[in-house]
Amino acid sequence: MLVVKIGGSIQKDERDFELIANRISQYSSRDRTIVVTSALKGVTNSLIEATENRDKAVEIVSEIYDRHVKLLSKIVDGPEFDNAFKSISKLADELFRIAWSIKVLDEISARVRDYILSFGERMASVTLGAMLRSRKMDAQSYPEPLLVTDDSFGEANVIEDLSAMEARKVLDIPSKIVVVPGFIGKTPTERYTTVGRGGSDYTATLLGKLLGFPEVRLVTEVPGIMTADPRKFPGAKTISRLSLEEAMELAQMGAKRLHPRTFEPMFDRDIRVYIEGLYDEGYTLVQGTCDSSDKLKGIAVLDDLKLISVESTNIVGKIGSAARVMEKAREAGVNIISLSQPASETTIHIVVDSKNAERLSSRLQELRDVDSINVQDASAVSVVGCGLRNKELFREVLREASSFEVASISRGLRNVSATFVVKKDEGFNLAKDLHEVVVKWIN
Ligand code: ASP
Ligand code: MG
Repeated sequence: MLVVKIGGSIQKDERDFELIANRISQYSSRDRTIVVTSALKGVTNSLIEATENRDKAVEIVSEIYDRHVKLLSKIVDGPEFDNAFKSISKLADELFRIAWSIKVLDEISARVRDYILSFGERMASVTLGAMLRSRKMDAQSYPEPLLVTDDSFGEANVIEDLSAMEARKVLDIPSKIVVVPGFIGKTPTERYTTVGRGGSDYTATLLGKLLGFPEVRLVTEVPGIMTADPRKFPGAKTISRLSLEEAMELAQMGAKRLHPRTFEPMFDRDIRVYIEGLYDEGYTLVQGTCDSSDKLKGIAVLDDLKLISVESTNIVGKIGSAARVMEKAREAGVNIISLSQPASETTIHIVVDSKNAERLSSRLQELRDVDSINVQDASAVSVVGCGLRNKELFREVLREASSFEVASISRGLRNVSATFVVKKDEGFNLAKDLHEVVVKWIN
């Protein structure tokens, strides 16, 4: 039994669907298969645009509808086409009505936004299911959410026991393959929600856990997770195995735009997760926790950051001064990417996205007892690998980093990552040097 997630970036045209059909047929010949689908390429972005440019909402919806119908006419024939056309048209009707109302009212709530976004994945699951049936595969679409969530629209939290009950419904469907939507959920009162951008990966691993399936395959554009972005680091390679801790750290820091919670469900279940390409052979297997064969695996670079340093000789040793600084970040609605304070307690360093720096630093000006607030361009360069727990390897990494002016070093989950905050113009060179160490140690 396995879960196969089909990404949105690999759902563009007939050729893609040909490859997708082959891949699903290969897996389902072996086992019962739950296929989790993303919306077709670009559809979620278009739906978001409709919620923002409400004037154009109806036009955008009509483009999305046309795209699905056109695609259906190419990849689905006979009676399967008629059925799928009816289902897609019915969904589109519902979506047209919402698009009209947000256009007329020129207003939208977080709840309605999620409702609108849900159509991308719902339409995709109808389309994909029909395509498989049209190829005489034993498949069924179930275009409704299997995840039950709270009502934090846009970034909803899954309620696992209710979701497990809901998810088991697909096991009663007597088809070998069931196609379900990723990314979306519903509240106990049946409102559509979404679990955050890229959420289909997370949906797939979570369904693996809730259904007790041992294997999850995330099929995407690239054949696995790489040691670094190959466009910027020419020696980058595919990582063949990642431990769970390493995968968590890499996903969290933005590797391959995976949903940051993708690997979370694996912590309490023994699940194998493959990240594999549709076009090229190759994959990354994520399984188990750190073992002695794990050395260094990859780097992650965040380079559009600001380092905000709050300096004060008055805050030294005063209980609550760090809390007051952090409270300002909360008030400003700013996410903190990294933070540190030397034991002298004279400075607090906060790293945030560049776009949030101004908002936070102006709030920080309100603090009494602060001597100065400095803001500078920064990069956070991280190395990931269980081998960082090994003294010799850690020393080698530190040696590379020591040629740079490092503002702070921090360690990640179970010490399998190390993040160096440096000036922005040093970020790339540090990353390049650290990547060379990684490539030397990858096995
Ligand atoms: N369609 C959603 C997005 O674009 C979810 C996903 O693709 O995983 O964010
Ligand atoms: Mg996607």
